[in-house]
Amino acid sequence: MKNYLIILTLILSSITSRANALDITWYGTSCFYLTDGTSTILFDPFLSRVSMTDIILFKDIKSVPKIVNKWIPLEKRKAIQAILVSHTHYDHILDIAEVHKGSEAVVYGSNSAGIVAKASGVDKRFLKKIKVGDKFKVGDFEIEVLGGNHPNHILNWIWATGKVDKDFSYPASAFSYKMDVNFSFLIKYKKKVIYFNASTNPALSKKINVDIAIQGLAHEKGYDRLIKEQIVPSNTKIIIPSHHDNLFSPLSKKMEPVFTSDMKLFRKKIKGRGQLLEFKLGETKKVFK
Ligand SMILES: [Zn+2]
Repeated sequence: MKNYLIILTLILSSITSRANALDITWYGTSCFYLTDGTSTILFDPFLSRVSMTDIILFKDIKSVPKIVNKWIPLEKRKAIQAILVSHTHYDHILDIAEVHKGSEAVVYGSNSAGIVAKASGVDKRFLKKIKVGDKFKVGDFEIEVLGGNHPNHILNWIWATGKVDKDFSYPASAFSYKMDVNFSFLIKYKKKVIYFNASTNPALSKKINVDIAIQGLAHEKGYDRLIKEQIVPSNTKIIIPSHHDNLFSPLSKKMEPVFTSDMKLFRKKIKGRGQLLEFKLGETKKVFK
């Protein structure tokens, strides 16, 4: 009898400690949808890509409901429990209100993220201001807010920094989407560790082994430091590239690289140090099977 009990306990504990398969979908830049069918989160809502001309001409930029609906239809939106915003540059938050439509998702982000979300049409009861060090649970995801480290856009310059104006009104030009702080997110899922870092610069401030890094690779100049200071020390097993695509080209077109990235070079540098898991635009892949 005692032996049966031991065997039963072993079987049960192996079932409960095993991570469920997780579906990860990439919508370009650092917009990712993670779900296991019960727990669902979305990172950096941005699907209505805007041409570079409209950005440079200071045009008001808008979320396009048709595009959001096509890629994340209502059924998928309803399932979202949390939307995590790394920072408030337009290419991480423009579609916040359309993505939120139909869901009861909590929007986690900085003070500026709250201002943009509210002005874009998200009811304030869904907004949750976060800071580095905060920890919270979303279904089976245990999330810890870490700092981010935004790379320069051009030369030594990051455009649109500072706080989003408290009178921010939607729609606005891309330059009104200022970045106050930049977060990365460390997520424990069952026994696995996922690290979401939208920026190419290393930002993992904890000594921890990472199973999957959803990693911004927009800036080729940062690859060496990123590998040396983040990917190698954290023994990252799988790297999912993000933000290496041309964000000025519509999501419906075939993916092309953004001019500051060089995936060929990254593939060469990462060889033997971690497995690259590359997505097509809109593609879903299963991990932890
Ligand atoms: Zn940015």
